[in-house]
Amino acid sequence: MAIDEDYQSTWNKVATIPGEDCEIDVWANDERPYEGTDSDKLGIWGTVVGVDMDECIGDGACIDACPVEVFEWFDTPNSTASKQKPLMLREPECIICRACESVCPVQTVLITED
Ligand code: SF4
Repeated sequence: MAIDEDYQSTWNKVATIPGEDCEIDVWANDERPYEGTDSDKLGIWGTVVGVDMDECIGDGACIDACPVEVFEWFDTPNSTASKQKPLMLREPECIICRACESVCPVQTVLITED
C-alpha cells in the first residue's frame, strides 16, 4: 500500500530516531502503532523525507537514486515486508529532487517541502 499522503496532518509524532546531526520523526496512529525499531510495527519515518517503514520492501532504489546520499540501510529484522530499510540518516541534506519518490516500486516514499 502506498504511503498515506496526509500522514503529517492525520498521524501523530510518537518518537524520534537519531540521524546524523538530526532527529528523525516517527509517525503513528491507532491503526498503525509504533512499537520500536526492532518490532514489526514501525509506522512512517521522516518529515521532509517520509518513508512508510511497514510497507517498504527494501529494494534500495531510493538509496541508489539519491544524489546527496541522504539514506543508509537500517536493519529491521522483525519487519514483515523487509529486513532492511532506507533510513533518512541525513534528512536535512535533502534537495527535494524527488528521485527517491519516483523510483520507489511500492510508492512508500513521500517528499514534503517545508
Ligand atoms: S528527494 Fe532527492 S535528495 Fe531528497 S532524499 Fe529523495 S533522492 Fe535524496
